Amino acid sequence: MATSVQSVGLAALGGMLWSGYTDSVKASPLVLRPPGALKEEDFLAACIKCGLCAEACVNRDTNVDKETGKQRAGTLQMAKGGDPLLIGTPFFIPTEVPCYMCEDIPCVPVCPSGALDMPSLLNEKEELDINKASMGLAVVHKESCIAFWGIQCDACYRACPLLDVAITLEYQKNDRTGKHAYLLPVVQDDACTGCGLCEQACVTEEPAIFVLPNDVAKGKAGDHYVKGWDTKDQERVKDAKGQETTTDLSKKDAGDYLNMEVEY
Ligand code: SF4
Ligand code: SF4
Ligand code: SF4
Repeated sequence: MATSVQSVGLAALGGMLWSGYTDSVKASPLVLRPPGALKEEDFLAACIKCGLCAEACVNRDTNVDKETGKQRAGTLQMAKGGDPLLIGTPFFIPTEVPCYMCEDIPCVPVCPSGALDMPSLLNEKEELDINKASMGLAVVHKESCIAFWGIQCDACYRACPLLDVAITLEYQKNDRTGKHAYLLPVVQDDACTGCGLCEQACVTEEPAIFVLPNDVAKGKAGDHYVKGWDTKDQERVKDAKGQETTTDLSKKDAGDYLNMEVEY
């Protein structure tokens, strides 16, 4: 009897610890997932932690060191105990190994659970298209990016597989010197896939450009703001019911208020 009570107690304690662990890792919003990953909460529910995506990533044909003929480290890692995310789920750290945006995206079709959603990566021709991936968004920290100091650097721009599409260079006059120009890296939100090649290429001590998960990097204007110059955006609210508000205009004039006794 005492032993069964003890086992029930231990099981309950284990359950509590596990649920505490999963709650705390669910609250780790800074993790980058493979291409096609569902939204974080749905991803955690769907991923069966089989590791097939990471295996396909490391074993892909393009991941062989030309000099040694050996396989290099893969982009995708499977979370272990001590990592601040759910154990057994795939993630990547761009400064270690970024995603090389493989054309055939071998990590995705092997996923048996739909946690990596293949349809989200199909283009108009129904072909897998890595440019449709949205693993995160690169963000430039202007204070530490030396291009914003006026020093010529285009390392991130050159490293981007979507050169001149996901990062563009913006010319600006350098008013401090009066005769030079700034060449500023600007990330294009709708094209950046979050591969992290720019972050890995950045020359500063800590990268001045880094990828954040979409939920962290992107704001949201809300449905009630509409771009008046964008017919597509207007289409979005074409069925919205207008709401009229009326305010009774005061018949008094400003002088009446100035002479009024106000109670606070
Ligand atoms: S697309 Fe990225 S994550 Fe997928 S196999 Fe290629 S390098 Fe690995
Ligand atoms: S292949 Fe799919 S289910 Fe398996 S670990 Fe990767 S994401 Fe999870
Ligand atoms: S993460 Fe960087 S390198 Fe990758 S697509 Fe975005 S801007 Fe380009």
